[in-house]
Amino acid sequence: MSSRQMQTLIRPLVRGLTPYVPGEQPKIKGLIKLNTNENPYPPSPRVLAATQAAADGRLRLYPNPTAQPLREKLARVHDCRSENIIVGNGSDELLALAVRAFVEPIMGQASRLSRAGKTPGPRCSKSLVQFFTPSYSLYPVLADIHGAVRNAVPLPADFALPSLADLEHARHWDFRAALTFVTTPNAPSGRGYRTAQLEQLCRAQKGVVLLDEAYVDFASENALALAMKYPHVLVTRTFSKAYSLCFQRVGYCVGHPAIIGALHKIRDSYNVNGLGQIAASATLDDLPRYRANLRRIMVTREQLSGELEALGFRVFPSQTNFILVRPPRFPARSWLQKLRGRKILVRWFSDPAVRDCLRITIGRPDEAAALVKAAKAIL
Ligand code: PMP
Repeated sequence: MSSRQMQTLIRPLVRGLTPYVPGEQPKIKGLIKLNTNENPYPPSPRVLAATQAAADGRLRLYPNPTAQPLREKLARVHDCRSENIIVGNGSDELLALAVRAFVEPIMGQASRLSRAGKTPGPRCSKSLVQFFTPSYSLYPVLADIHGAVRNAVPLPADFALPSLADLEHARHWDFRAALTFVTTPNAPSGRGYRTAQLEQLCRAQKGVVLLDEAYVDFASENALALAMKYPHVLVTRTFSKAYSLCFQRVGYCVGHPAIIGALHKIRDSYNVNGLGQIAASATLDDLPRYRANLRRIMVTREQLSGELEALGFRVFPSQTNFILVRPPRFPARSWLQKLRGRKILVRWFSDPAVRDCLRITIGRPDEAAALVKAAKAIL
């Protein structure tokens, strides 16, 4: 079979897809890795011990299919019921499930137009996956995979959440969109949003609003209460960032049992691996230790921001474990290469809104010091 014939085996929608590009994971000795917002501190000894103790003959057994013990523990932490919670293979899985559960796919020409960045008219709100730009670059990919229509609405230059009045005037904003994703705090800018303002937005939306709180543990407020107050609001969280468990892939979503139930219906039977469930559960038994790590990261964030500002970088205020900076003197992309040459990896995005910026994960103080030293040398 020729490669052309083989292509015909693949659905046209999948053939035309541009996949999500995750940050690089190179294994270069001595590399300072500040590109994928991982936590610089390891999981707690209790978490490591629990995971190691579980790696025995029981690996032959299927894990708990609904992650019930973990959901019960999470329910106690968040003062809700386990029916309010679904656990996922990372919060990424839950974002994908939300698209599949709440958004009506469109096919053929309309879907191709949407992927090409053109809105097919007349628009059907039931097929809209709505989000701000810049925000998490996975959302448009999930919309494309599903055959939904993406509705990307630009944030202002300071990345502030637009007011309702602004959205009423925004050309594209749809108050009836089937699903609206809000990254809060925003990524890649790091800007935090007030719960009161998020509440106004949620109240105005008719479809599901998913507040993606991947970085909220580094912020001064969170919007979990909105998921308990409004049946159409969901909040997703992850163990990847604040809890040093990227490798295990555990995230969760909180919301009304009827909406959470829809996500349970369409997930894989054993969507969360057993060691991940155990590691996440042990994490919840050791929260004070993690709070100390969060404080350390936030202190480093403020110190690094000040030092880069002194070197002429524009540093956007951050409520996350990364900072977005506009570097001086050279284009951001050449800073990326120059830093890489000094074995420091940061992230650059081609999105026009941030292409003159770099996103830098907050590492340990010694890693931040190495970054500042390298920046001084480059300047
Ligand atoms: N939301 C945002 C905004 C993120 O940056 C990420 C991490 N790339 C995720 C969700 C997904 O995290 P995970 O799947 O590791 O829980």
